[in-house]
Formats: sequence, C-alpha cells, structure tokens
Amino acid sequence: MHEPVLVLNANFEPINVCAMRRAIGLILTGKADMVVNGRGVIHTVSQSFPRPSVIRLENMIHRPRPRVKLTRREVFRRDHYTCQYCGRRDTGLTVDHVLPKHLGGEHCWDNVAAACPSCNHRKGGRRLDEVHMTLMHKPVEPPANAMYLFGHHEEVDGEWQPFIQGW
Ligand SMILES: [Zn+2]
Repeated sequence: MHEPVLVLNANFEPINVCAMRRAIGLILTGKADMVVNGRGVIHTVSQSFPRPSVIRLENMIHRPRPRVKLTRREVFRRDHYTCQYCGRRDTGLTVDHVLPKHLGGEHCWDNVAAACPSCNHRKGGRRLDEVHMTLMHKPVEPPANAMYLFGHHEEVDGEWQPFIQGW
C-alpha cells in the first residue's frame, strides 16, 4: 500500500506523488480516475480494487509554478553528490554558503553548493577570492520540471515515463 502513485492534474500535468492508499481513496470518492493500472488488484475481505500507478484528478487544481525546496538533500541532488570545489564524490558532503552567512551571504539557491569536508575546512568561512577557490558550476535554482521533481522514483523508467516527459 506504500507504492508511489503519480498524480496528474486534469490537464495531464504531473503534479504530485502520493501513496497507494491515498490514490485509492481519491478514486473511490470520485475525485480521481485511474489512468494506468499496472499493478494488479488489492483484495480486501469483501472487495477488490485495481492498484493504480497513475491517476488523474477530475477537477483542475490551480497552483503557482512549483519550485524545488531548498534542503540539504536537494542541494546534494542538484550538485550530483559532488563537491563543487574539487569535484570529488563524497558521502560526507556539507552545504557550503558560497558567500558566508556572517558576511551577509543568503541561504538561497544561488549561494549554496555541496562541499566535501576538506574543501569546507580549507574555505573556512572566507570568501572565494580570499582562499583562491573556484566553483565548478555557478549555483542556480534547479528547474522544477516533472523529471527533476519526480525523477528519483524508479517508476519513471517504466509506466510513468510517458506522463513525465515534456513537463
Ligand atoms: Zn572538495
């Protein structure tokens, strides 16, 4: 019941991923239709329900353009789990503020980068020009397209693919 289900807006735009239990609830209350049923059937004592992998809302939801939330996890994902100073893949990555906070640097996408412990130590809360370090990529806010938002689910390589592409 915990498998992820892709939720499409009424115009087929992918807008969310929810758990199977919630998806079935939306279908049973008439709020959503099943689009893809690739997972067989769930049996309860008295009934059986198809197990959806993609559903579509009956009514269009209007909402602002989605944005990727600025979290440690998302910073590492944007930076491909790679230190943005030395290029090393490191499991102990930290989020570095390019212009340190105590010098007025903001906590925003343009001012954060994944850094390995040794680069973090070398930088030591100073400005890049002071320590003669450079970033491999200019940090920017990642585009909140469907592939970026939902691409970490393995279903993207299968049943979800036609619904994700192009959004
Ligand atoms: Zn490094």
